[in-house]
Amino acid sequence: MKYNRILLKLSGEALMGERQYGIDPLRLAEYAQDIKAITDQGVQVAIVIGGGNIFRGVAGASNGMDRVQGDHMGMLATVINGLALQSALEDADIPTRLQTAIKINEVAEPFIRRKAMRHLEKGRVVIFGGGTGNPYFTTDSAAVLRAIEIEADVILKGTRVDGIYTADPEKDSTAVKFDHITFDDVLRKGLKVMDTTAFTLSQENKLPIIVFDMNKKGNLLKVVSGETIGTEVNL
Ligand code: UDP
Repeated sequence: MKYNRILLKLSGEALMGERQYGIDPLRLAEYAQDIKAITDQGVQVAIVIGGGNIFRGVAGASNGMDRVQGDHMGMLATVINGLALQSALEDADIPTRLQTAIKINEVAEPFIRRKAMRHLEKGRVVIFGGGTGNPYFTTDSAAVLRAIEIEADVILKGTRVDGIYTADPEKDSTAVKFDHITFDDVLRKGLKVMDTTAFTLSQENKLPIIVFDMNKKGNLLKVVSGETIGTEVNL
């Protein structure tokens, strides 16, 4: 395997499958199988999960809700997703711990870096819920932050497109995919990989990002074994 310790970022929307809202248990089970394929190879896996399938603070604010209140709801949504993912992983016989950035001690462990790293060393998948614990941030920022803290080798951003293109491939048929691109070129060309806060944090800490299609079975294993799937953003 090319990577020993990875941080996988899954958006909340990815968990919806074909649905318009919430969680598709079949999709979760498929993800669990893909994750098992890499933990079976000894790869240490941490996961940051989004909450967009349930609630986004910005959406609440656009309907007149206080933004911070909405962001708290969004962070709790990521904890709900984390619990669902934990169940799916345990159904696939993968030992798992959920750690949250906001304390809900009856439900999950609080985020403690050293404990998270110890879990990873013991072969447990660690899910980080609650984003960064702060409003006005995204789970992409949480993913980069946690990846740096736990010294992950790479961030794998599982999406429904298979990489970074010269333009939006869903709108422009002439769009061409990059296999590799530098952080500077992403910024220079105005391409969208993550929000600016998350992206800059990754760049400053020299943490590579691979964007790939998580919905194709077996892709996760291919990425972790070093196959050129998706697009790698590096220095
Ligand atoms: N959120 C937050 N702080 C964080 C991470 C998330 O306030 O550190 C809130 C924010 O309202 C966000 C929601 O949680 O809209 C869900 O996260 P995100 O939109 O990143 O999820 P995704 O798009 O990955 O599903």
